[in-house]
Amino acid sequence: MVVDSNLPVAIIGGGPVGLAAAAQLISRGLPVKVYEAGSAVGSNLLDWGHVRVFTPWRYCVDAVARKLLESHGWHMPEPETFPTAEEIVEQYLAPLARLSELAPSIETSARVVAVSRWGADKVPSKGREQKPFMLVVETADGQRRDMARAVIDASGTWQTPNPLGAGGVAAEGEIELGGRIAYGIPDVLGRDRHLYAGHTTLVAGSGHSTANALLELARLAETEPGTSALWVTRGTDLVRIYGGGDADALPARGELGSDTRDLVESGRVRLVTGFATVAIREVDGRLMVEGQTKDGLRTLGPVDRIIAATGQRPDLALTRELRLDLDPWLESVKALGPLIDPNEHSCGDVPPHGHRELSHPEQDFYTVGIKSYGRAPTFLLLTGYEQVRSVAAAIAGDMAAADAVQLVLPETGVCVVPVSVSNTSSQGCCGRPASAVVDACCVADAEAKAGGKPGCGCGVAA
Ligand SMILES: Cc1cc2nc3c(=O)[nH]c(=O)nc-3n(C[C@H](O)[C@H](O)[C@H](O)COP(=O)(O)OP(=O)(O)OC[C@H]3O[C@@H](n4cnc5c(N)ncnc54)[C@H](O)[C@@H]3O)c2cc1C
Repeated sequence: MVVDSNLPVAIIGGGPVGLAAAAQLISRGLPVKVYEAGSAVGSNLLDWGHVRVFTPWRYCVDAVARKLLESHGWHMPEPETFPTAEEIVEQYLAPLARLSELAPSIETSARVVAVSRWGADKVPSKGREQKPFMLVVETADGQRRDMARAVIDASGTWQTPNPLGAGGVAAEGEIELGGRIAYGIPDVLGRDRHLYAGHTTLVAGSGHSTANALLELARLAETEPGTSALWVTRGTDLVRIYGGGDADALPARGELGSDTRDLVESGRVRLVTGFATVAIREVDGRLMVEGQTKDGLRTLGPVDRIIAATGQRPDLALTRELRLDLDPWLESVKALGPLIDPNEHSCGDVPPHGHRELSHPEQDFYTVGIKSYGRAPTFLLLTGYEQVRSVAAAIAGDMAAADAVQLVLPETGVCVVPVSVSNTSSQGCCGRPASAVVDACCVADAEAKAGGKPGCGCGVAA
């Protein structure tokens, strides 16, 4: 660290991982400044506040944040129960942000719109590391420029959803008809009920958000006649969403998948796979959705509304003037890309990783939290808390602690790789994560390679 060490470490985002980073740094005695775009911490979580998460409380709270909270008399909620996202904010993040140690360092309604080096765009190399970072911050009072010695980007991906258009750009008609499309997870049984009751909704996607939306629509249909759901997926392999069932170490996650499977098998939801949405058209006041399939163009509908649970992508505009190293298609940090690529890994395990994998050619800049996974969908809070423990230690110069990364994630019970991958790649995915320094996706894979075999040879999906 060569920049003035009296400058704070800037943390972009007051979500669970950003606040954990703040707790970690403050516990090490470093000055911190947290910028939160929303009017309260945990703003993104509040947007899907009605959703119950599938990890129990004990996986939702950072260890150092917990210690700080408990020193002020806070009691950990029952560790084996499952909070909603709103409860995570109300019972954990908001009390954490109110602590005398953290509160003075957190600014809400403060959106970082750009990060650069003071007086240098991304081109000049000479003396680059000696220049502090400059953050352009938008607040109700206007725009200002703040300086920082290091930057931790924990701004998440929730606010930049993927479009419905399967090509990654808005489908024809998607923008014009946007008033009838919800991105993410609308509160179908609560505040948005009137929009879905008695109507037909097309749900697009194949992740946990899709499962939540479908299950809520099915519940709504039990009391609101005329409510129905049509589910479309771009791919044809549903293993990730159906999950590992009873074999999932997180039973609530396994249940989410098997309940979704039941909806389809019982005929309560109609499923169309291999449907790549290309256009939405209004016909007689309702919506017709056109998609590319293996048999050519196909039109589905009419439907009244659409839920695009098509995932999120990182906002890269923020860091345009920094030297970042990103995976070419996931837009995750480069080192994580091959380990979390959904083309190759269905189980979502990731090897332990820390400051080395989360850093960039831009010295003292780190991407953490769900943003570090870019477009990959398998991030867990546990991963983020270990990430920021390592990064905080590195910024503090405690390299022994920074390099001692430990992460054991609950297994998904999903143990398959596509045929194409298992035949061509040495990376499979069938067990606990291997160390990040080994070219292996899991312990079994690492052991097999150490024994001279090509890989672990885990299950193969047809
Ligand atoms: C529906 C759903 C269910 C999930 N369930 C689980 C689960 O059961 N268990 C689990 O471990 N994980 C789960 N996750 C994954 C993950 O843990 C969450 O997405 C979590 O919120 C990620 O935390 P984060 O701090 O990285 O990002 P976020 O929670 O998204 O926080 C980012 C923060 O940054 C702020 N921000 C954004 N841009 C800016 C900016 N430019 N300037 C300033 N502030 C900014 C936002 O307002 C937000 O408060 C789930 C995710 C989703 C979407």
